[in-house]
Amino acid sequence: MSRILIVEDELTIAELEKDYLELSGFEVEIEVTGDKGLARAIGEDFDLLLLDLMLPNVDGFEICRQIRERKNVPILLVSAKKDDIDKIRGLGLGADDYITKPFSPSELVARVKAHLARYERLVSSNVQENEVIEIRGIRIDKTARRVFVNEEERIFTSKEYDLLTFLAQNPNRVFTKEELFREIWEMESIGDIATVTVHIKKIREKIEYDTSKPQYIETIWGVGYRFKV
Ligand code: CA
Repeated sequence: MSRILIVEDELTIAELEKDYLELSGFEVEIEVTGDKGLARAIGEDFDLLLLDLMLPNVDGFEICRQIRERKNVPILLVSAKKDDIDKIRGLGLGADDYITKPFSPSELVARVKAHLARYERLVSSNVQENEVIEIRGIRIDKTARRVFVNEEERIFTSKEYDLLTFLAQNPNRVFTKEELFREIWEMESIGDIATVTVHIKKIREKIEYDTSKPQYIETIWGVGYRFKV
């Protein structure tokens, strides 16, 4: 969920912005003074900043300038005066957008969404390529710990993911339940070898087309399991 910081000294306006953004599924925090807003914007990870210009202690111009020296987070300036717009442009503060009061809530939400989407594209295009295992339609993204079957994401618990990844990383090798239990559950005293069987069943339900004829994780009777390639 995207986190947004509102820095606005008029609490009724801040609360209104917060309500609308929360209704759109965002997590929202409010600060009512410039210095506190600046400190949090620098110290914490927000996905977007909504900054009023006229604020106690440190104004929105100064906050914007200081944030831009350190972070790429999208900044939307909120101004009560049309005159401020020229100033925002002239100063080259690096704000991504500005909006003048009074504004409609839907306009605010639309702008926020647009900037978040643009920022996400920017960030993801800079991300290093993830470490990926691909076997016959199954793709395991090890960096993100996500699993896709024919490009459709399947949700795994942490242990199911660990077990599937371990088997897929060692294809065609047969492991006994004891070996798998030691490998995945290590030092944890909870559970026993039956846990392995339960987890294999759950994984199969998520990756196999027909769990009675598994194409990926094979049962080797009397021995254990293997990931078939
Ligand atoms: Ca103000």
